[in-house]
Amino acid sequence: MGSRLQEATSRSDGVRSRARPKLSSVTNDVEAALYEVRRKIYPRSVHGKFASSRIALVILTQLIFYGLPWLSWNGRPAVLFELAQRKFYIFGLVFWPQDFIFLTALLVISAIALFLFTAIAGRLFCGYACPQTVYTEIFLWVERWIEGDHMKRARLDRQATDVRKVALKSATHAVWIAIALWTGFTFVGYFTPIHTLGVEALSWSLGQWETFWILFYAFATYGNAGWMREQVCKYMCPYARFQGVMVDSDTLVITYDRDRGEPRGSRSRSAAARAGGLGDCVNCNICVQVCPTGIDIRDGLQYECIGCGACIDGCNQVMDKMGYAPGLIRYSTENALKRGLGTSGIVRRILRVRTALYSVLFLAATAAFLTGLYLRSPIKVDVIRDRATLARETRDGLVENIFRLQIMNTGEVPRRFVVRATGLKDLAVAAKQPILVPAASTEAVVVALHVDPAVAKPGFHPIVLHVEDLDDPAIRADEKSKFYVR
Ligand code: SF4
Ligand code: SF4
Repeated sequence: MGSRLQEATSRSDGVRSRARPKLSSVTNDVEAALYEVRRKIYPRSVHGKFASSRIALVILTQLIFYGLPWLSWNGRPAVLFELAQRKFYIFGLVFWPQDFIFLTALLVISAIALFLFTAIAGRLFCGYACPQTVYTEIFLWVERWIEGDHMKRARLDRQATDVRKVALKSATHAVWIAIALWTGFTFVGYFTPIHTLGVEALSWSLGQWETFWILFYAFATYGNAGWMREQVCKYMCPYARFQGVMVDSDTLVITYDRDRGEPRGSRSRSAAARAGGLGDCVNCNICVQVCPTGIDIRDGLQYECIGCGACIDGCNQVMDKMGYAPGLIRYSTENALKRGLGTSGIVRRILRVRTALYSVLFLAATAAFLTGLYLRSPIKVDVIRDRATLARETRDGLVENIFRLQIMNTGEVPRRFVVRATGLKDLAVAAKQPILVPAASTEAVVVALHVDPAVAKPGFHPIVLHVEDLDDPAIRADEKSKFYVR
């Protein structure tokens, strides 16, 4: 499967193999491919279960993306990445730079999930949830709504400029720009409270960086979904290039059943299946017309295929009209086609060494992440010894060491902490206690430790500083340090 995809990749790159080619002809071929002018694609709209699934996912992902910044939690935005304060709020959780490990774990889990789902069913993410697919779909809805179906849009682009064309194109671009600006505004709303951002935008008092990022994100959305479209998937997305190593002969991919479809040919609707020695493909090209990347899946698996399933829906409609069984183009595997496996055979092969390994890694990483999150302490303490004076004598003849404690309350309620120290006999803490640390804040306090020189020999002694919540002793942090006696 991987090699088929690689073959397809090189074929689609336009570098075709020939017997003993002359150097000049090879150079011309490569130059032609490199400078090939883009042929605009006007995907035909299609209905079916894959189109419905994509619409449902577009709506779901955008409800989440556009809605989350407006949600409130404990009187603040439910999701807010406050870069200046270096605090990330996600519902009831507050993450600090010290929690970077959780972000790393999330990235690892996402990567394993991508490997797992790609090994099972190919480019599911690309076809249904990738922002490029989602925004291209939304922009296409606008285009269809204003300019008409794929035929009308193609005709409009070909015709000479007149008032109607200018009006339709202006309307399309105006709606695209409005969506793009709203998307940029929402994106920045994850980093600045969106209500504040809204007030600033309405009063034309946005900060420089906020303005820059809103416009930058809007420009990227408008450019990628309005103009670049399938070119992002074909030429810019690295995932398309390395997916070949993530799939195998048992991966579900969108496949044309060549044995059933060939020889292809047009025929009357009343013709029986296989009449005249023809296969089930009526060569109507609907599968090509609905394809957002403009490829013909009948040529085999190609790296441009984003796995959206539009060709399945399109072909099934044709099969239905012809009275043939659906599934000439369907989700299948290379092994299923080769060995004639049915659904149960395909499902049985989902669990194989590769997917089992990914599943174990995925479950282990997720379990570790959730356990870490559950056990995460709402208090973090850093202890720094006063380096200027290692030890000094108090008026009472005790040895004194000074420590600077950085107490971080990562929770959303203020806490009162007390400090104890152990490790030396009668080790006493001299500090103003309890120490009040407001919610999601850090407090730096100076703590003096005293010990009777009669009970400690000269030198460094290991000690432990215990910082406890006065109201909930289960919330505590123990930090090791050293006490010096001259
Ligand atoms: S939509 Fe189906 S029948 Fe029509 S050309 Fe494509 S594969 Fe053949
Ligand atoms: S070949 Fe089919 S699944 Fe692949 S991108 Fe085109 S329409 Fe979508």
